[in-house]
Amino acid sequence: MADGEFDLIRRHFSRPAPPGVLGVGDDCALLPTRPGAMAISTDLLVEGRHFFSDVDPAALGHKSLAVNLSDLAAMGAEPAGFVLGLALPRIDHDFLAGFAQGMYALADRHACPLIGGDTTRGQEGIVISVTIFGTVAPGEALRRDGARPDDDIWVSGCLGDADIALRLLLGGASAGAGTLAQGDDPFPPGVDRSVLLAATRRALEWPEPRVALGQALRGVAHAALDISDGLLQDLGHVLAASGVGACVDADGVPVSSAVATLPAPLRRLAALSGGDVYELCFTAPPGLRSQVLAAAVTAGVPVTRIGQITAAPGLRLVDASGDPIDPLPHGGYDHFA
Ligand code: ADP
Ligand code: MG
Repeated sequence: MADGEFDLIRRHFSRPAPPGVLGVGDDCALLPTRPGAMAISTDLLVEGRHFFSDVDPAALGHKSLAVNLSDLAAMGAEPAGFVLGLALPRIDHDFLAGFAQGMYALADRHACPLIGGDTTRGQEGIVISVTIFGTVAPGEALRRDGARPDDDIWVSGCLGDADIALRLLLGGASAGAGTLAQGDDPFPPGVDRSVLLAATRRALEWPEPRVALGQALRGVAHAALDISDGLLQDLGHVLAASGVGACVDADGVPVSSAVATLPAPLRRLAALSGGDVYELCFTAPPGLRSQVLAAAVTAGVPVTRIGQITAAPGLRLVDASGDPIDPLPHGGYDHFA
C-alpha cells in the first residue's frame, strides 16, 4: 500500500511495546524467551464469512484477538504477544481506529502486546489474520488427548447465545450453513426478536476468552479445548484424540435465561451445535470436583458438569431423565460442508 501503508501502521498499530520487547517498526519483533514450551495459534477472519460488513469495528478488533486468546486459554498457556495481518480493500481510518481500540483494550487486559504484522491492499472484503504466542510448561499444557473414562465433562459459562444471535442477524438462517446465506426461520411466532437479539448479541460480538480459567485448570483438567465449532463437534475431537466416548446430558448444558425461553429443539440445537462460543470444554476426574470449582472461583467464571467420559466409544445424548435422545441434525460448523 506504499505511503498509505506506513501511515496506516503508524497511526493505528504503533503503540510502544512493553520494556524488553522490540515491537512494531523493525524487520522482526523480538520477544524475550521464557521457560517452558511456546504455545502458538493462528486464526483467519474473513468478511462475509466470519463477520458482517457492518459489524462494529471495535467488536471486530476485540474478537480477532479474543479467538486467539481463547486458543491459549484452552491449552492453559499464558499470553506473550501477537502479530496482526491485514488485507484491506481500501484504507478507512474510522474503521481502523475503532478496530485498534477494541483490539488494544483486550490486549492490555491480558498483557498481550501487538508486536508486528503485515498490511496489504486486498481484493473485495477485509481479511484479518492474528497469530498469537504464549508459554506453558510442556507437561502442564491442557491437550485434547488426555480424557480418561469416568472423567466428568465440564463447560464454562453459557452456550448457545452466539448461535441464536447469528440466526437472528441472518433473518433466521441456519448458522450451520457454510456461508452467510438465507434459510428457514426456526423462531416460533411470538418471539420478540429485538429483545432476544439484545440479550444474545454480546456473546457473538464480544466473546470473553477464558484465559484465567485455562491457567487455573492446569494440573486439574485431563483434557480441554475451546468451543469454536459447536460443543458436540468439538467434544468429538477430544473423544477421538483420547480414544474414549461420552455421555452428555443435553438439557444440562448451561444456557442463558434468554436461550432458556426457546422451545427445546431450538434451544438444544443452539447449545449443542452452535459455534462461535469460546467457552472451555474440559474433562477432570470426579475426585477433583472441588478443585475444578475452586479454579472457577479463582477465574470468576461459572462451570457446569454436563456428562461423563466413557470407555465405550461414541457420543450418547440423554435428556434430563437419562433417556437417550436422537443426534442433532447438525454436528457443528464446517467451513467446507
Ligand atoms: P517488511 O517490509 O519488513 O515486511 P513492513 O513494511 O511490512 O515490513 O512493516 C513495517 C513494520 O510494521 C514491521 O515491524 C511490521 O511488523 C509492522 N506491521 C505491519 N503491518 C502491521 C499490522 N497490521 N499490525 C502491526 N504491525 C504491523
Ligand atoms: Mg511486510
